Amino acid sequence: MTHRIRIAVLQFAHETVTFLPNDTTRQDFIYPGSPASGEALLATDPKGYMGGFVQVAREYDDVELVGITSPLWPITGTGSGWVTKDAYEHFLGIMIAELKAQPKLDGVYLALHGALAVRGVPRPEADIARRVREVVGKDVFLSATFDPHGNEDEAFLEQADMAFCVKYFPHYDMHLQGERAARMLVRAIRGSFRPVTRTLRVPIIAPTVVMWTGASPWSDLIQRALIWEAREPDVFVNVFFGFPWSDVPDAGMGLQVLTHDDPELADRVIRDMADWIWRRRDALLNTVKIHPMKDGVALAREAVTAGKSPVVLADYSDRSGYATWLLQEIVAQKLERALIATIASPDAVRSVLAAGAKPGDPFDAEIGGVFDDSAGAPVRVSGTVQLVDAARGKGNEWICVSFGKGNVLVLSPYLVQIVEPSELWQLGLEPGAFDVIAIKSRAHFRRGFDDSGFAPTILLVEPPQPFMGTVRLEALPYENLTLTDYYPYGNPSFPPAV
Ligand SMILES: [Zn+2]
Repeated sequence: MTHRIRIAVLQFAHETVTFLPNDTTRQDFIYPGSPASGEALLATDPKGYMGGFVQVAREYDDVELVGITSPLWPITGTGSGWVTKDAYEHFLGIMIAELKAQPKLDGVYLALHGALAVRGVPRPEADIARRVREVVGKDVFLSATFDPHGNEDEAFLEQADMAFCVKYFPHYDMHLQGERAARMLVRAIRGSFRPVTRTLRVPIIAPTVVMWTGASPWSDLIQRALIWEAREPDVFVNVFFGFPWSDVPDAGMGLQVLTHDDPELADRVIRDMADWIWRRRDALLNTVKIHPMKDGVALAREAVTAGKSPVVLADYSDRSGYATWLLQEIVAQKLERALIATIASPDAVRSVLAAGAKPGDPFDAEIGGVFDDSAGAPVRVSGTVQLVDAARGKGNEWICVSFGKGNVLVLSPYLVQIVEPSELWQLGLEPGAFDVIAIKSRAHFRRGFDDSGFAPTILLVEPPQPFMGTVRLEALPYENLTLTDYYPYGNPSFPPAV
């Protein structure tokens, strides 16, 4: 009888906006379904990293998966700040204890993001890998998946053997990278893949709104990585775009290359990718036209008049969910048939629920704003409750309020990034009822609104000041990195000499 391959599976993922005032706490990770253990963990995110990993791992009759108790994403989504040391140690402690209690393992899969930021832990993903390694020993293979908005330097692959990062933004290939993480982990365990890796940080820091891979030059960058993977067997190229809203020492762009036991090839590929990025750094940073809110709303009206609707107004900058800048402007310019989704307004949501309001009841409340400077002032909205949607479960209800001439405002307790129009129609709203859809997203919305051909007019808009989420990174109070070490804020010498 052949040896069974035992692989532990665990997850610790967040994209932490360290400049937000609300820390991500232990409690934020605890809600129905999270933490998840055993089969429940393996069944999460079937179209994502976990689904891809589990699907391929289960194609092998001799592979056994062990779901280690793991927190899913916090209920705050990406709308919360520093993960507390308490939350990190609590959940990692549970994972480590469960790993220690396991009989001999052959591999570990780490479902990560790369922009987890923990108070007092400069490189959490590398720290997770290091502590897992301490338990399982040096002969066990560690394979991980990442989001391209991860911030990773050499430290991670000094501890882990393999990493597979999503290439596209919107993130179309999460399942694929999960599949690879499983296949290559099993091959490494069986000895047919000997991972030799290289990591190189590229000193460029960029706001995420410029990183849409649906157009040049970001599509060219991804194509370059895909060409290397196509022409060389067992080569994998990870391009980390970086996440500048995490104030961490390894923020910024970075590359990882994996080969089958071929250090020269790894050097050649990573050098090629680094040269490509550096040559085109200006183009990579200057990809999108961003309009002040006021101009954007006026342009939206013109586009509707010209028959180029639906129009998407995308506030790319709101990191808390509470921002009211766009709503203020829509009200000021008396836009009609506009759908605004969403504004985080937990108090207003709670009072509507507490009052047991039904569709048709009057609504009159101050919504949004207050959270921090970037959220702007609250806005008084008088209208009618149109519907209460509880599809996301208790504590995460959404309220639709109609106001003005054909406008609908969607209120949620947390930051929401609408990426597909169907998320709105599932609420019971009528697609034909709106000329303008105002959302909060940088590039993910292009999945359903742009790549799909849905919206003929797309306008990215920003508030008047260099607030936290805007492209003006120089306004951020970084403490753990020096902005002038990065292009375009300084002019570092790159690539490093061989
Ligand atoms: Zn991402």
